[in-house]
Amino acid sequence: MTAFARRVQSFGTTIFSEINILAAQHGAVNLGQGRPDFDGPDDIIGAAVTALQAGQYNQYPPGNGAPDFRKSIAAHADRFYGLSIDPDRGVIATAGATEAVFSCILGLVDAGDEVIVIEPYFDSYVPNLIMAGATPVFVPLHAPDWTLDPDELRRAFTPKTRAILWNSPHNPTGRVFTPAEMQLVADLCQEHDVIVISDEVYEHLVFEPAQHTPIAALPGMTERTVTVSSLGKSFSVTGWKVGWVYGPPDLVAGVMRAHQFVTFAVHHPSQIAAAYALSLPGTYFEELQAMYTTRRDILMDGLWQAGIKASAPEGTYFVLGDFSEVFPGDDIEFTKYLITDIGVACIPPSPFYSDAHRSLSGKRVRFAFCKDEATLRTAGERLRKLRG
Ligand code: GLN
Repeated sequence: MTAFARRVQSFGTTIFSEINILAAQHGAVNLGQGRPDFDGPDDIIGAAVTALQAGQYNQYPPGNGAPDFRKSIAAHADRFYGLSIDPDRGVIATAGATEAVFSCILGLVDAGDEVIVIEPYFDSYVPNLIMAGATPVFVPLHAPDWTLDPDELRRAFTPKTRAILWNSPHNPTGRVFTPAEMQLVADLCQEHDVIVISDEVYEHLVFEPAQHTPIAALPGMTERTVTVSSLGKSFSVTGWKVGWVYGPPDLVAGVMRAHQFVTFAVHHPSQIAAAYALSLPGTYFEELQAMYTTRRDILMDGLWQAGIKASAPEGTYFVLGDFSEVFPGDDIEFTKYLITDIGVACIPPSPFYSDAHRSLSGKRVRFAFCKDEATLRTAGERLRKLRG
């Protein structure tokens, strides 16, 4: 007899945990999981310490989040995207974006509904849908430019489609979809009365000339989109697990019904610090992008010198590198070889595909550049061994 419930029997261990364990065993420079190897800004951490010691924030916050945090989320959406969000009825604080996406699915999607998933997809989406009893319908992006085929997308919409899981800037391809590309998604959603669950955790990791536009900002989309983001990537505090959902009150109310029985509420002092972080001036976000532009270029240089072909991502802190000139096997075999023989860890993207489309991942692996410059240079030196 198996000890597992049927709903989790098909799940393996996440690729991120698997790679972290293997990387640690072999002392590899870990460019796998998107986890900075440097600390978040002192003032944001200071704001959390102050909140912990203030004597006011160590008990339950309201289930939908601390009022100042919700206000800062709405103000941020207005400041950057001109979106008008109700901080009381249109925002929920969550335990990171992962809980946010899951609560959106549980609160808005019925068992038996179809949900469109763009491949490659972030690894929690499909297990989330399976746990909710929903059916994923896969639509792949096409290499090398990672664009959607309009006909494939159109065919995925059926009378059973309830939602599409959208992600831009896109992990792992680094695409930042343009408003023109998103217009087709928006048109189809309106035509078929489909909602969007939009994961925008890399909203501030965008490289010129690319620009991030939330799909909620397209005409007619505000009322059918719940937008998910988090503190982790924008403020280099992935371990805080602080995220949020915003959208129209009628959809957010559904998400809230799920959220209240998933986590009830999330870490109160971090929400106070998060309100501070989201209110930082534009220069903070410009410096973040400049820092990551430099680090992206160091990694790109290391990859090219090693014979791994890669084009610069438009956003996120990931690069997909093509290893076909330096290794004959598939992405899983290359990742293992890279960790054990070369001393660099990366993420194979084939787990981000359905079985039917897995071959589309090709001979590529994902490298993260949210690392100290010295870490990236060491990785580059090790990667050069691939050529010899
Ligand atoms: N978003 C991170 C990445 O893609 C991983 C987060 C996680 O492990 N759940 O690397």
